[in-house]
Amino acid sequence: MATIAQLTTKDAPTWCPGCGDFLILSTLKMAIAELNLPTEQVAITSGIGCGSKMPHFVKTYGFEGLHGRALPVASGIRLANHTIKTITVTGDGDGYGIGGNHFLHTMRRNLNITHIIEDNQVYGLTKGQYSPTSRKGFKSPSTPSGGLEEPINPLAVGIAGGATFVARGYAMDILHLKAIIKEAIQHKGYSLVDVLQPCPTYNKINTQQTYSVSVRKIDPATHNAEDKQAALKLAEEWGPNIPIGIFYKVQRPTYEEQLPQLNGTPLAQQDIKNINMEQAFRRYLY
Ligand code: SF4
Ligand code: MG
Repeated sequence: MATIAQLTTKDAPTWCPGCGDFLILSTLKMAIAELNLPTEQVAITSGIGCGSKMPHFVKTYGFEGLHGRALPVASGIRLANHTIKTITVTGDGDGYGIGGNHFLHTMRRNLNITHIIEDNQVYGLTKGQYSPTSRKGFKSPSTPSGGLEEPINPLAVGIAGGATFVARGYAMDILHLKAIIKEAIQHKGYSLVDVLQPCPTYNKINTQQTYSVSVRKIDPATHNAEDKQAALKLAEEWGPNIPIGIFYKVQRPTYEEQLPQLNGTPLAQQDIKNINMEQAFRRYLY
């Protein structure tokens, strides 16, 4: 089991002052510590981006992959060792844009991965270009006259696309976000946690000031998270009332559970001394 101090690496983040990533990092470490997860039982994968440096700052297993490829790495970990808690942390550009294809197919497979998306609605690391979640008309270095596309709605895509846990948190409300992340990590299946993350350097529209008056917590007493239609309706809400909390949560078999090869000892721990590799290669190649 690990304390916050034991989860903290000697590397210090170099994010801009006021960046929401600082709080997402702290919240993730708190969630891992409070769940009493041994550090050697957790793997964090990421892609490329400001917040994708997360594996550098949490003392668990970690892998910073190519841009958009954090989920395939996480999928590989799940297949090689399905006993490892696997958490993927990406930005919105990384997760919904460049990695959009993996986003769709990982959720429909229902691999047991917790996917945290630091959604600041820009590509921060590459100097503020508009991203798939930027509002229409958002002015950026790559859209000086304003973006022409409608933003994707990641929660609606998640609910419709087969994710079995769909939630939105707010980086500045760490206690609420921590509760969501803990539940997402404990959920069996693909869990999507979209986090509203202020980027004070490049996003002057969705700021801590605007979110502080627009986010509202979903009341679990009045919202049935197993009701897909209700979850979709809630996912459509934005503007003066941005719901945060758990939108959707259901159970169905994970990808791993449906593979008989993963019923017992993880593949990575199996003895392969007696496997005839030449025979195995021939079987798959010819
Ligand atoms: Fe954070 Fe934005 Fe700075 Fe990146 S550019 S570190 S997302 S504030
Ligand atoms: Mg981003």
